[in-house]
Amino acid sequence: MSTDDQQTGHKGLASLWFGTALWKRILAAVLLGAIIGYFWGEGATQIKWMGDLFVRLIRMIVVPLVFVTLAAGVAAMGNLQRLGSIGVKALVLYMLTSVVAVVIGIGFGVLLQPGVGVELSGATPRAVETTASVGDLLMNIVPTNPIAALASGDMLAIIFFALIFGAGILVQGEGARPMADILNQASEALLGATRIVMEAAPFGVFALIAWVMGTSGPQAFASVFKLAIAVYVGCALHMLLVQGGVVRLFANLRALRFFRDVTEAQLVAYSTSSSAATLPVTMRVAEKNLGLRRPVFSSVLPLGATINMDGTALYVGLVAVFSAQIFGVPLDAGKYAIIMLTTVLVSIGTASVPSASLFLLAAVLTAIGITPEQTALVVGFILPFDRILDMMRTTTNVTGDLAVATTVGKWEDEIDLDVYRAPSAG
Ligand code: ASP
Repeated sequence: MSTDDQQTGHKGLASLWFGTALWKRILAAVLLGAIIGYFWGEGATQIKWMGDLFVRLIRMIVVPLVFVTLAAGVAAMGNLQRLGSIGVKALVLYMLTSVVAVVIGIGFGVLLQPGVGVELSGATPRAVETTASVGDLLMNIVPTNPIAALASGDMLAIIFFALIFGAGILVQGEGARPMADILNQASEALLGATRIVMEAAPFGVFALIAWVMGTSGPQAFASVFKLAIAVYVGCALHMLLVQGGVVRLFANLRALRFFRDVTEAQLVAYSTSSSAATLPVTMRVAEKNLGLRRPVFSSVLPLGATINMDGTALYVGLVAVFSAQIFGVPLDAGKYAIIMLTTVLVSIGTASVPSASLFLLAAVLTAIGITPEQTALVVGFILPFDRILDMMRTTTNVTGDLAVATTVGKWEDEIDLDVYRAPSAG
């Protein structure tokens, strides 16, 4: 082959690669990763570093992106009433969908009885600290030092400061206008950085999926078959019927289009198991594919990634019933209500990182009278195969944030419907 031919070949390959929509490349990476991981087994751990590197790359963007975009978004709202109206609508939808998710989780637990006949004697107990009390949680939303909050990545505190900072720009009017412009430009730059980093996604996703499949894939699924089926089917139903239903009925938009538009974020959520790390992708998808405008996506999504966890809520409801079945703890209507309330409240303060559910679970189990020793046993039992379940709940968490943002965007007339309806860009 002549040098010219080789160059043409390289160009052809490059244009094929870059000409293929990113979500398709990522989907191919998931499938290929699953196959290779299945056959490679434990050996796939050797390439996990590629996945870790990708997660670091997107996490790198999260803190500056949330602060800058949220403050810019609030400044773009024009007045404070708008902030209140968007905030209240998002919060109500977040709470509503989370409550339905816990009910589905409890329902599957009662129906499938995944805890009946489960032997925990082989599990190594794992103590988990329950999360801080709701009072402390609320107090800590207000940072005494916003720079420290940014440095430690304390999301709720960062969100609070960004809201106040953006509101400050609004009330100052003209005097603070240049700051709004700077924030807007910084936000553009960070969304651009996300675009660059996402070019590494197919490789990172491939490595993460291969690692999960090779180390805890199908075997893990088989060892807790009923629980795993309940998580996967429950989350799929919640996404299709509840979240899709919200988009269809509340926003009056085509749900199928919504699911096509958000595939990229779902795939990244599935492979990274962290809604916080996925946030830059979630935002990009909201702007680029769903056509949401800044005042909505920049405020609703960071809030959602931090406090709204439909998949997690479903899981915790399910595992609470599962644990009660194992230890023979009777559950009545009052206990179900406690599960619901604690799950929705505690999930506000639970970080959106891999296996975060287990901390939340500890708080909920304590509330229904399961002892710390028993909780440690359940956690020890679940932990070895938690990742594969976490992947599904994280996908559900991220889809929920996007469904609510789409709905609020439609209600607030902050969505470009031509972009929403157009096939997703690459
Ligand atoms: N990993 C999930 C998330 O980041 C939280 C969980 O463990 O359920 O959304």
